[in-house]
Amino acid sequence: MDILVIGAGPAGLFFAWKMAARGFSVHVMERDAYEKIGHRLDSFHIDSEKFAEFGVPPPEADSKELITIFETGVNKSPYGHHPKSVHYPFHVMRLTPFLHRLVDYCKEQGVTFSFETAFSEFIFEAKDEKNIIGAVGVDKSGKSSKFHSKLVVDSTGMTSPIRTTLPPDYGIETFQISPKEQFYVILRYVNWLEPTEMPGKGNTGWTFYKTWVAPAPEGTDAIIGIGQPLSYDKGEKIFVDFEDTIALPKYEVIRIERGSTPYRRPPYSFVSNSFLVLGDSACLTKPFSGEGITAGWTLAKIACEHIAHLLKENKPLDTSNLWAINTLYNRSQGAKFAEMLAQIPAAANTTKKEMEYLFKHDVIFSAADFEGMNRNYELLIPFGKLLRIVGVLLWGLVSGNYSWKNFKGLIGSLGIAGKLRKHYEAYPEHPTEFSTWTETASTLWDDVPKMQ
Ligand SMILES: Cc1cc2nc3c(=O)[nH]c(=O)nc-3n(C[C@H](O)[C@H](O)[C@H](O)COP(=O)(O)OP(=O)(O)OC[C@H]3O[C@@H](n4cnc5c(N)ncnc54)[C@H](O)[C@@H]3O)c2cc1C
Repeated sequence: MDILVIGAGPAGLFFAWKMAARGFSVHVMERDAYEKIGHRLDSFHIDSEKFAEFGVPPPEADSKELITIFETGVNKSPYGHHPKSVHYPFHVMRLTPFLHRLVDYCKEQGVTFSFETAFSEFIFEAKDEKNIIGAVGVDKSGKSSKFHSKLVVDSTGMTSPIRTTLPPDYGIETFQISPKEQFYVILRYVNWLEPTEMPGKGNTGWTFYKTWVAPAPEGTDAIIGIGQPLSYDKGEKIFVDFEDTIALPKYEVIRIERGSTPYRRPPYSFVSNSFLVLGDSACLTKPFSGEGITAGWTLAKIACEHIAHLLKENKPLDTSNLWAINTLYNRSQGAKFAEMLAQIPAAANTTKKEMEYLFKHDVIFSAADFEGMNRNYELLIPFGKLLRIVGVLLWGLVSGNYSWKNFKGLIGSLGIAGKLRKHYEAYPEHPTEFSTWTETASTLWDDVPKMQ
């Protein structure tokens, strides 16, 4: 077969479907039973405009997949003032039925599946043990099966059981995503205790605490969510501060869902001989929210177009031929994500008072900035706007609304983040220049302050 995809999550299924639609033979190996895929998460959301970008039909209006569509969201200041109305629609959906629809699309294009079959080991070309030529899967009865393929794709999510067991010199970093390198999400499904209205229409967020309140799927009134890097404990502590400061209507908790996503820089290379890593296993989550579905599809789409071209030309799927996937991704989304990830420790130091001041003056936290962040993964700052930001920040220093320490920290982190972005935008075109590039990249990442 042409391609073996391991892991039937959003990243693996999207890639399998799109490759099969281009006429290639694809097999998907998945540890869970078909009925159970996606069970770890009930609801999730996708930016509505991304469906068209990735050629994925949005869910039907009356399907059990679709919970609701937020046409508008509101972001409020740390003390609950200066609401910014953000016109950037999101589809709120259920994960398991969504993945089942992707499985259907795959099957329509001829993809075959082995559910309840877990990756056990790679198959290497006998000669030099240097080239992967497939993988072995073990089903729940303990029976192992060999799958030979031109390409093995790791889309097994954050635990990365495949990437982490590559031979250390195979060309892709084999790090485990440590607990400190994760973004922790706690979702409280609640019922309001008194007849009440939602605190806002659609989704209402409080950026300072990374909290939000949103309508819930049937059976509960709302979800109160919080996401924080480092640990669930940190999330719970900040949640206490949030509830002390922001008056929510009284509620009872019906159930709590917890989960984490990767929150660290991706491996410097996603490809090696006959191997590709995608999705959470490649740490492809949005630095400002920890969401990974469409972030992962960006690399999958680039990879799909390039690999289809190589296979049509009968070219081997070796590191050198696959390299363009690294270059195309890292010079675009990869560069923007690197810049944002490097800015976050300084942004996290912003005090309540400072963020309140910025919200009030519509600087960095304006509706247009929130929309830009969601749509383009960056703040677009033309010269006139930059002058205004500098003016507001300087006035903040003079008036005591912004501290020198945090101002200096912010400027310093913007400097390092900008350098990282430029460095990623100059990602090498050939593997020969890779080691020099990674040396500089590692020095720059070492300069990024660690999250406290
Ligand atoms: C609480 C929470 C809320 C979130 N909300 C959102 C959201 O609203 N929007 C958004 O975009 N993202 C959200 N995310 C992140 C999103 O869920 C992930 O980024 C996304 O699921 C990653 O997709 P993936 O295909 O890479 O991995 P996964 O979804 O983790 O899928 C990996 C698959 O590989 C299988 N697998 C694992 N090991 C093996 C093995 N050894 N052999 C065979 N198969 C294996 C697993 O069973 C699984 O089916 C949220 C995450 C959490 C925790």
